[in-house]
Amino acid sequence: MSGASQNGGAYQQLLARTRDIGRLRGAEELLQWDQETCMPPGGLTPRAEQLALISGLAHEWLVVDEFGRLLEAARREGSTDGDPVRTTNLREIQRLHDREVRLPTALVKDIAHTSALARHAWVEARAHSDFARFAPLLARLIELRREVAERVGFTGEPYDALLDEFEPGATVAVIAPLFAELREATIALLRRLQAAPAKPDASILTRAFPVPVQQTLSRQLAELLGFDFERGRMDVSAHPFTTSIGGGRDVRFTTRYLEDFLPSSLFGTLHEVGHALYEQGLPPEHIHTPMGWSVSLGIHESQSRTWENFVGRSRPFWEGCYPRLRGLFPSVLHDISVGNFYNAINAVRPSFIRVEADELTYNLHIVLRFELERALILGKLNVQDVPEAWNEKMRDLLGVTPPNDAQGCLQDVHWSMGGFGYFPTYTLGNLYGAQFFAQAQRDIPDLDGRIRAGNCRPLLDWLRTNIHQHGQRYRAHEIVQRVTGKPLSLEPFLEYVTEKFAAVYGL
Ligand code: ZN
Repeated sequence: MSGASQNGGAYQQLLARTRDIGRLRGAEELLQWDQETCMPPGGLTPRAEQLALISGLAHEWLVVDEFGRLLEAARREGSTDGDPVRTTNLREIQRLHDREVRLPTALVKDIAHTSALARHAWVEARAHSDFARFAPLLARLIELRREVAERVGFTGEPYDALLDEFEPGATVAVIAPLFAELREATIALLRRLQAAPAKPDASILTRAFPVPVQQTLSRQLAELLGFDFERGRMDVSAHPFTTSIGGGRDVRFTTRYLEDFLPSSLFGTLHEVGHALYEQGLPPEHIHTPMGWSVSLGIHESQSRTWENFVGRSRPFWEGCYPRLRGLFPSVLHDISVGNFYNAINAVRPSFIRVEADELTYNLHIVLRFELERALILGKLNVQDVPEAWNEKMRDLLGVTPPNDAQGCLQDVHWSMGGFGYFPTYTLGNLYGAQFFAQAQRDIPDLDGRIRAGNCRPLLDWLRTNIHQHGQRYRAHEIVQRVTGKPLSLEPFLEYVTEKFAAVYGL
């Protein structure tokens, strides 16, 4: 562990070591970014080994006795009263240490290695729509994750321990009733929209939009929202994602281009830029320490959904931006008005693929995965029965049956990464985001007018002031309460979708 200062007391030494772990994690992120964007297929085996080695090292540095002793000494060193930075750093480093110390290095390495192989098997399985090729590794990952849950501990059920890794403090006891209520309200609104006489025509989005022009559009949108290309990159990958390799100074996002489906790059870019803006807005002086980290995946997702949906699928945004879009694709959009375009990007239609789902039905996809994951971890659902269980839930929730497993249970990458407990953060992000955005509209004078004028700065500044700059100072539930004056509730999201889609569907 280079760089650990021998001076400055236990707390400073602890921070130096934490920063070293952050640097190592940055290298791990870079290897993962490379695997998704440019690694040749032959690099898979050595890459899996490299990632397992680094995961193991980062884990060892965090759980080594000396780290635990420094943590103890730093806690005894003095009162943390009145020093929120120190309080936050100690609280969150302790939390990380307590969790990791219960996991043997061999288990951590096994998960990293199995995940890298499972990722590959999943790609193959999906390409051939052959669940059997993925099933054995999925079963192994479930076993490994159950072991993690047992070792980390939980008060409710094993799934809580997995959830807590991505959304600290979240539990099934809180999420399950919230999701059940959301499910009912969503299906009720969906039925009303399906019965509406007028339906938006979304077919214009499947016209031929030349990919090089889409690339120009993506870059322009990233700049419009405030992404800093001096501190970041935009690349292409099969599955869009954002990663931070050197705190806010090297933030990379990816997007993907389909000539005959504009929303893929358009909303993929707006979404990932939302994540990237959060990373670029974290306080640079706290790089690689909890005060410089994002709160949780749910809060992260609230940022991406804000720019993708509350801004990027709004009427004011396109009233301002549509002339530019039509200027880029004059022959494709010459006969389409801004109103038609706005309606097209807000068409609600149950579909197979989560990442292409509209704002309303999206959460039903998450409810489905949440229910299946819980059952898998509890052992109430066997891996070989996943395809059938998936299709049955698709019928129950969305009224559609996937034609094959590639468009069904094999569509998402998360299970191949062992990411059970990850999916609920998507819906939590939608709910947090709606609550934050409603507050931003109250706080920022004429926010709609500013967005219509192409000025995204006031909203970005509001997010930076209220959320980004605090790092992990507040937990998710605290930041929601602090920013909006209320605990998390379904109300802002349900009000938003009801009002918006009633207008789009002329109800
Ligand atoms: Zn996201």
